[in-house]
Amino acid sequence: MANPFRQAMQQLEHAAGYIQLHPDILERLKKPMREMQAAIPVRMDDGALHVFSGYRVQYDNSRGPFKGGIRFHPKTNPDEVRALAFWMTMKCATVGIPYGGGKGGVTVDPKKLSQRELEMLSRGWVRAMRDMVGVDTDIPAPDVYTNPKVMGWMMDEYEQLVGHHEPGMITGKPISIGGSAGRGTATAQGGIYVTEQLLKKLNIQRPRIIVQGFGNAGAVYASLAAEHGWRVVGVSDSKGALYNEKGLDVELLAKHKLQTGSVAGFFTGAAKTMTNEKLLLQPCDLLVPAALEGVLTSINAGRVKARAVVELANGPTTPEADEKLFKKGVVVVPDILANAGGVTVSYFEWVQNRMGYYWAEQEVFDRLRPMMIQAFTDVWNQSKKYSCDMRTGAYIHSLARIAEAMQDRGRI
Ligand code: GLU
Repeated sequence: MANPFRQAMQQLEHAAGYIQLHPDILERLKKPMREMQAAIPVRMDDGALHVFSGYRVQYDNSRGPFKGGIRFHPKTNPDEVRALAFWMTMKCATVGIPYGGGKGGVTVDPKKLSQRELEMLSRGWVRAMRDMVGVDTDIPAPDVYTNPKVMGWMMDEYEQLVGHHEPGMITGKPISIGGSAGRGTATAQGGIYVTEQLLKKLNIQRPRIIVQGFGNAGAVYASLAAEHGWRVVGVSDSKGALYNEKGLDVELLAKHKLQTGSVAGFFTGAAKTMTNEKLLLQPCDLLVPAALEGVLTSINAGRVKARAVVELANGPTTPEADEKLFKKGVVVVPDILANAGGVTVSYFEWVQNRMGYYWAEQEVFDRLRPMMIQAFTDVWNQSKKYSCDMRTGAYIHSLARIAEAMQDRGRI
């Protein structure tokens, strides 16, 4: 698989080539400000001691505290976390929330851990990173295979260490302990707001959609899309994929996933089962990668039949694929815009924690919607102004904000 950090740096250089980006800014953005790799020992249920590798990368904090999730995945490695931390920096600037970017992770297959082992690992991560994280310094959140429960353990561990309540040190928490209404569905909801704008621009009424990945982002996006009367024609998860050109029953599918742990094996008369790789190449209007990096590459991009790609995952499209898709006229709505609803509601959660005053779900979405629409419009306009793809448009837009902050701080 392509190295995601190299991918991120290629994107940065490509965008910098369009604008008069100060060379010192480019230089600063080529390296994270600070990185931590720590050994996290966990006593397993069978009595053995297992030492996991945990990471936190603090990429840039010119615009505010570092912000970004923690990923628990068997393939997580320093270069991946570095890339994800860089993308968070660009994402927060794209939507205009007052944060820099960071990311964390542990190399682990959490599906193989018991609840107790998972809790020990989560608490261990916080003990290892306690000097890095904090409400005004670096604020973690969920990412792939972490969830509100993990955030709850992490907050509790941190509060025990510092000896006072500090719910704003982490976001994506359970609502009972300071989480925000709407945070659980915010990534998908933000993606839907962006999709609505895209459909207007492309003049598509009832899109046929393929969602690759059926986790928090993908599954919620599919069900919101179905509520909109859009046709979800394909879905997949790590175990397999399904496609039916007439549309899939997303509600039944979600139930099936809950019962069996996978979308594979779901039986509806005309639906065809296939591999994830094949699913990406089926006919549709919108292709929504919602799992991991590097799924659209130079090898398959030329055969994508979608009219547009909406990146709910981080980093699903390699630079070579971007170029091919752009030449084919396939619009790619980049991750740093399409999935920014999650971190935007994380920001709302942090604001609510600091006020100690909580909003109803409707208020959260009433605030999220205009921010996503504004960000979409800004990015779209930049891509038209520079005749470039939307990712480059988003980079141009966010780099201007980061550059201004760096300049105003006298960092360059
Ligand atoms: N992990 C999510 C992302 O990649 C959310 C980060 C956050 O809420 O801080 O955007």
